[in-house]
Amino acid sequence: MAKKDIVLTGDRPTGPLHLGHFVGSLQKRVELQDKYKQFVMIADWQGFTDNFDNPQKLRDNVTQVMLDYLAVGIDPKKTTFFIQSLIPQIAELYFIYLNFVTVSRLGRNPTVKAEIQQKGYGENLTAGFLTYPVHQAADITIVKGTLVPAGADQNPIIEQSNEIVRKFNSTYNVDIFPEIKIVESAVSRLPGTDGKAKMSKSMGNAIFLCDTEDVVAKKVMTMYTDPDHIKVDMPGKIDGNTVFAYLDVFDTDKQMVESLKAQYQAGGLGDVKVKKYLIEVLNNFLEPIRLRRNEFAQDKEAVLDIVIKGSEQVRCIAADTMLEVRKAIHLDYI
Ligand code: ATP
Ligand code: MG
Repeated sequence: MAKKDIVLTGDRPTGPLHLGHFVGSLQKRVELQDKYKQFVMIADWQGFTDNFDNPQKLRDNVTQVMLDYLAVGIDPKKTTFFIQSLIPQIAELYFIYLNFVTVSRLGRNPTVKAEIQQKGYGENLTAGFLTYPVHQAADITIVKGTLVPAGADQNPIIEQSNEIVRKFNSTYNVDIFPEIKIVESAVSRLPGTDGKAKMSKSMGNAIFLCDTEDVVAKKVMTMYTDPDHIKVDMPGKIDGNTVFAYLDVFDTDKQMVESLKAQYQAGGLGDVKVKKYLIEVLNNFLEPIRLRRNEFAQDKEAVLDIVIKGSEQVRCIAADTMLEVRKAIHLDYI
């Protein structure tokens, strides 16, 4: 990674952010902002693709997502925040890019394919949803982003972005857009509290960064463990056991985790006891985040102002990029 790399990521304002978002990309952003120019985008147009019938939800969650960003330590002095829909040039570039990808290629994107299935779209699949990865290519390249910190599920989307960008560059024999690389997190996929492969707000299996201590406790107590571990003295399985998966990620006392695992596997350690321990670990982890969130929430107008000011800056960068694009495609009238 060269110093001139530019980092771009974002999240859809469809709800507050959860522990999956934290390990998948927020954590990395806090680290990367000290080394690179970093942009963090609130992807309201992307959220619109499956919430066009309820835009108020997006409007309400812009502030919530911003509060989560500030609470985890993404710093407006080091990172430029912006709102996707406040940068009209992204939509312009998206339209151009739509011509550099086939409909059949879009339908083969495994991440999108899985989402279409999960949402049960069938014949109701919209062009907006099917083409959201093209929008992502435009999001990243409008600021000439080269690094995207994200979970492993974003790999196919980055691959598709690179295909589009390469085709654009080669069609006009230009070198406007650099190759995009994903910066994968150590934890590629945090499971949901129900034991399903991915924590996701749409699946109702998430622990949110803004959850209170009590809510965290409740969610952990219903967490999926080893279904065959019925009695305390029975040996239990660690593999696929969500409680241990979370301890592996969030407990800094690795020795303790190893000793709990050994006890659990040997028999004699009950689920309730390990869950109570996990509640403590998670609440300790979340406490400073909650405190900072509450502090920033005192002045929501100031929070919104940060992202509006950032959007003004990004509009200037985007306008420069579009000048180059227009020149490349010979439609530079003025
Ligand atoms: P959700 O899936 O919770 O409804 P979303 O669709 O808005 O929310 P995604 O697009 O799935 O969010 O994820 C945004 C970013 O956070 C991506 O980089 C993704 O890889 C990461 N991420 C989300 N959930 C997880 C998870 N459970 N484990 C690791 N990374 C995750
Ligand atoms: Mg998702």
